[in-house]
Amino acid sequence: MHPYTDVAILGAGLAGLSIASWLVGMTPQHVSAPRVHLLEARQEDTNDRTWCFWDQQPHPFREVISHRWPRWQVRFGNQCVEREDSEHCYSLLSANAMRRSAYAAIATRPEFRLTRGIDVGTISPQNDGLHIATSQGGLTSKLVIDTRPPDTTMLPSHRGVWQVFHGVEVHCPEHGIPLSTACLMDFQTGFSGVNFVYLLPLDDHRLLAEWTCFHSDKTHPDCQRLLSRQIPVQLSDWLNQRLGSQWTLSRQETGCLPMMPVTPPQLNSRYLAAGIRGGWMRPATGYMFASCQRGAADVARQVHQASQTGRWQLTPPLLRSPALEWMDNVFLQALRQSPEQAPGWFMQLFEQTSAIEQRRFLGDEPRLRDLLAIMRGLPAGPFLSAAFRLTRNS
Ligand SMILES: Cc1cc2nc3c(=O)[nH]c(=O)nc-3n(C[C@H](O)[C@H](O)[C@H](O)COP(=O)(O)OP(=O)(O)OC[C@H]3O[C@@H](n4cnc5c(N)ncnc54)[C@H](O)[C@@H]3O)c2cc1C
Repeated sequence: MHPYTDVAILGAGLAGLSIASWLVGMTPQHVSAPRVHLLEARQEDTNDRTWCFWDQQPHPFREVISHRWPRWQVRFGNQCVEREDSEHCYSLLSANAMRRSAYAAIATRPEFRLTRGIDVGTISPQNDGLHIATSQGGLTSKLVIDTRPPDTTMLPSHRGVWQVFHGVEVHCPEHGIPLSTACLMDFQTGFSGVNFVYLLPLDDHRLLAEWTCFHSDKTHPDCQRLLSRQIPVQLSDWLNQRLGSQWTLSRQETGCLPMMPVTPPQLNSRYLAAGIRGGWMRPATGYMFASCQRGAADVARQVHQASQTGRWQLTPPLLRSPALEWMDNVFLQALRQSPEQAPGWFMQLFEQTSAIEQRRFLGDEPRLRDLLAIMRGLPAGPFLSAAFRLTRNS
């Protein structure tokens, strides 16, 4: 391994590959780029996730989006609220497609390299850079962008919940579900806490279905049981009821996402935590794709500038307004206080807000008037109580 680089990106997942792709895109071919070394622990890629998001802003992966839904809905019993925005569809990108696109971009630049199967350890300041200890020896870099998953010390569990989900892509005889509509939440009754099914029709014979619930402690044996057994069985029963027994499994995905405000680690101005580790994921929704693209574009611009000026330093991008962060924290507090009421809140919120307000709010780009509309759409009592409790505890 070459012992020096300008920029080390630790982890080649969504954030690491997005930053690299943005950087390639903003460096003209005739201009030399900074030396960028991506260090990734995995030896092999697996198609272990899909990213869904409202496609509102330009990003390097537009060409490889595989599905778009102009309509979305939420359901609870026989209630259904549906909204439509055909200009900015709810869109799906598979992990494999994103990675292929990023690898192709990286391959166009000799200054970029990706090393797989390397385990990054500690990072320590050195003269003119940071030293990175790895399973394949040491490396010194002028800048370090760290996208490895957050350590538990960065996750204040008492300020949020874990979003626990299991998803399956299935093949079946004609399912009859309209291909234009993504079902974001179909709330399920008779289970403890909030449970919902997320359903994306991929074509006439294929569906992506996920069962989601929340838990307060990822390390608790109950949470592990939910993930390894209970949710997969519940999802399978739900599919049997909906499709009969004629479906076959083609792919699975599983997650346990921290819906809480992450505290990113700080070292010095040459080090930046990014991705989930940097707090880029929206705590109240578990969505990260849109804010990740904004963050990646900002970080890539800073790297580009640093390589031209020789001032090697980074500042964290500002991804969400303080007002949005406050609202998300109030929402998480309310969810912890009264989880059983959440399906009713969501139905009311979707009923009382427009497609554009929902899309911009959930897609991480709300204007002030969208935030006001969202506040008006939520029941005052539980949210005032949550806001009061949050203020008292802070
Ligand atoms: C199944 C699933 C579905 C999701 N769906 C959506 C969605 O639809 N929409 C959305 O917006 N968000 C979604 N998310 C949330 C979020 O967008 C993803 O988790 C996203 O991958 C986070 O990006 P990241 O770069 O922070 O982390 P990752 O993509 O996980 O990348 C971190 C990388 O660091 C590597 N790494 C770890 N330790 C080391 C080490 N010691 N040394 C070197 N490398 C290391 C890992 O192998 C990994 O490749 C989903 C998450 C999951 C798990």
